[in-house]
Amino acid sequence: MTAPGLASPEPAGPRLLRGGPIAAEVRAAVAAEVVAFREAHGFVPALAVVIVGRDAPSTVYLHKILDGCRTVGIVDRLIELPEDAGPARVAEAVAALNADPAVAGIIVQMPLPPTIPLRTVIDVLDPAKDIDGIHPLNAGLLALGYEGFLPATAHAAVEILKRSGILLEGRRAVVVGRSNVVGKPAALLLLREHATVTICHSRTVDLARRVRDAEIVIVAAGRPGLITGEMLRPGAVVVDVGINVREGRIVGDVDAASAAPVVSAIAPVPGGVGPLTNAILLTHLMRAARNQAEGRVALGSRSMVPTLPMESMP
Ligand code: NDP
Repeated sequence: MTAPGLASPEPAGPRLLRGGPIAAEVRAAVAAEVVAFREAHGFVPALAVVIVGRDAPSTVYLHKILDGCRTVGIVDRLIELPEDAGPARVAEAVAALNADPAVAGIIVQMPLPPTIPLRTVIDVLDPAKDIDGIHPLNAGLLALGYEGFLPATAHAAVEILKRSGILLEGRRAVVVGRSNVVGKPAALLLLREHATVTICHSRTVDLARRVRDAEIVIVAAGRPGLITGEMLRPGAVVVDVGINVREGRIVGDVDAASAAPVVSAIAPVPGGVGPLTNAILLTHLMRAARNQAEGRVALGSRSMVPTLPMESMP
């Protein structure tokens, strides 16, 4: 019986892998790097964000990136183009940022308006400034196991596991989702960490069986409640990347109520990968700035591959 005045102990839930405290550590390290960079090179690098139109859902996220820059002392640069800016104007804006030595990294709002094909950006964006890993050169470097720029969300999803001390090597991992921005790169990063990786998608037959086999599960499907407790292996570690709005609340792809009694740890939504993504992007910006300032990349020539010091990784 509980003594009078004492609350009954809460049943022990899974360990929550929270992105906020990790992001704070990452930001503190970046802030120190910014100071060292300024001392070494006499300027502070800028991160440029190109936004086309005002209504894209990603606009809020992009403004958060700019706020994040300010908190660590990185110069933020916002280029806002009208909704009806054509492809030529968008390409021109990106080319101008490529040519600006003060700008170390460029992010272009995705999705672009339907009038502007993705190629408009890809054809122009310098891979050495592509800090969110959208350029095929960076995607190829990741696939081959070389050092390029990673899509920040996928990087954050795996980083939250690593920084929480979750063993990945030799473990069975399932990634639900195969997009170029999250699922595929997250799977490749898990492979780099020596996990044994299965990628699931909308045509996967018997998703529950695949997921139940996994010790590590990363879910990036954009389907609220897709993964329930019954589908998960007892003791599994889960990273929920999904962002969905349900009844006015932000929820992930994992049904948190049924998953909680089953899993050993979960990066929840909200509060897991989201807060870390932004901080990870700042680390990419500083790496781009160092590469450029120290002459490790040849800007504009697309010859990032031979000039980067790279080790081959799995
Ligand atoms: P996409 O829509 O591009 O990809 C979704 C993937 O999930 C596809 O590969 C799709 O399969 C798969 N999928 C959809 N339904 C099912 C299903 N029923 N069973 C199995 N697989 C399914 O989304 P993104 O990758 O861009 O984003 C995924 C989620 O992550 C979204 O909720 C998004 O909002 C969130 N997100 C979160 C970020 C963060 O910072 N936390 C940043 C970016 C995204 P198929 O390929 O067969 O269609």
